[in-house]
Amino acid sequence: MNILIIGGAGYIGSHVTSEFLDNGNKCTVFDNLSSGLRENLFPEAKFIHGDIHDYQALLEAMKSNGGHDAIIHLAAFKAAGESMLIPQKYSRNNIAGTINILNAACETGIKNIVFSSSAAVYGEPQYLPIDEKHPTQPENFYGFTKLEIERFLDWYDKLKNIRYASLRYFNAAGYDVKGKIKGLEQNPANLIPIIMETACGIRKEMQIFGDDYDTPDGTCIRDYIHVSDLSSGHAMALDYITKKDKSIIVNLGSETGSSVKEVLDIARKETGKPIPCNITSRRPGDPAKLTASASLAFELLGWKAKHSDMETLIKTSWNVYSKI
Ligand code: UDP
Repeated sequence: MNILIIGGAGYIGSHVTSEFLDNGNKCTVFDNLSSGLRENLFPEAKFIHGDIHDYQALLEAMKSNGGHDAIIHLAAFKAAGESMLIPQKYSRNNIAGTINILNAACETGIKNIVFSSSAAVYGEPQYLPIDEKHPTQPENFYGFTKLEIERFLDWYDKLKNIRYASLRYFNAAGYDVKGKIKGLEQNPANLIPIIMETACGIRKEMQIFGDDYDTPDGTCIRDYIHVSDLSSGHAMALDYITKKDKSIIVNLGSETGSSVKEVLDIARKETGKPIPCNITSRRPGDPAKLTASASLAFELLGWKAKHSDMETLIKTSWNVYSKI
């Protein structure tokens, strides 16, 4: 297939591009390089330096390279904390930018879209593991933007015959198991890259945001999912929606929970570095525990996490961070 990957130079986007290329697809990457990196681009994929706010550029990109069969849309801001302080930035990019993509897809006749959604659409868990039937009450503005786009997608499915897969990612982490992708995320806000930056000396120390949660060691538990697993989920989801002509919303998670202290212990062991840390106060909006049920992804797509054990997540990350 001929695939347009919007946000394909980013951390997750570059892994997804690698997956589609490896599966024999023709790929175009469209990215404004605001957080994506040139070093994440593959020579086999055509690159268009463009912005999702530029409707003409989107139309041209969609029509280029012989036209596209599908769009993978990963171009979004993702810092939940920042979204509560600067909601305008998230409205403009994650909502208005995505509406541009949907409208340009309608105009150019592209019928298949895979959308990067998030477990942030659920908000405070009412039960665990979280399945797709769990109520959606986002606790942060970022999660609201993702949920809002799922609603748009649902309407565009009904009104314009767009078929979509909305993939609700849990905590994306790790690096390419094949070792091809080496671009470091700039100013990361997530736990594993912060641990890696501390291990390799970019940061002197890191903070654990609270150790008084109702969990066995007092630190928060999350479901970490390897980007290579996420990437195969995109390919399988696209296959499903094109073959079945049906839209889907599915969780992508490992179904395993790791606490902040457990992640840190494994990182110390795998890197051999002390990784100094302080315990600080809780970060607002952090639930004690979040784990996914990914049984729907297995049932519909045959997808299951294969590389998401904590050792592999840390080893593949350290493989990149240890070389800087
Ligand atoms: N966390 C932490 N220190 C950090 C970054 C994150 O203790 O410097 C904790 C955070 O409170 C949460 C977990 O690590 O319990 C995962 O946070 P992250 O920001 O990676 O993902 P989120 O759960 O917010 O999607």
